[in-house]
Amino acid sequence: MSKLSTKSTESSSSRARGRVFGVPKRCWCGEAVVALISKSDPNSCRRYYRCSFAATNKLRNDEHVFKWVDEVLLNEVDALTTKNAAHEQQLKKLRTERLVIDNVVYEKMEKVLEKVDDGLDEAKSWNKKMMSVILIVCVVMIALSKVVG
Ligand SMILES: [Zn+2]
Repeated sequence: MSKLSTKSTESSSSRARGRVFGVPKRCWCGEAVVALISKSDPNSCRRYYRCSFAATNKLRNDEHVFKWVDEVLLNEVDALTTKNAAHEQQLKKLRTERLVIDNVVYEKMEKVLEKVDDGLDEAKSWNKKMMSVILIVCVVMIALSKVVG
């Protein structure tokens, strides 16, 4: 039972304080985070981010921000990869939607063109009728002028 309770306090405190995603800018305590270079033997020359308060006071085993720079960068790369995949998915969806829209527009355009064609045909036949009416009127006028003259 006691084992379970320690575990739960551990995870809740690490969620509240330690785990910051990406490059940490500020520690939970309010102090700025600085980039330092490790001098300890197994990680010699390895760069890390550290709460400046904890760094100046040389705190150890505390809950102030501590993150290896390379791990942060790996996190960022992972995040970018995930983001990129999401963007690709979105792009694919947009392309499909675009195709659907294109088809709808094409169909509508065809209908409009059909109507325009119909209209043109109508206008043409109306023109022909008008021309024959004018021709008949002219012939009648000429005939009338000859009769009168
Ligand atoms: Zn701090």
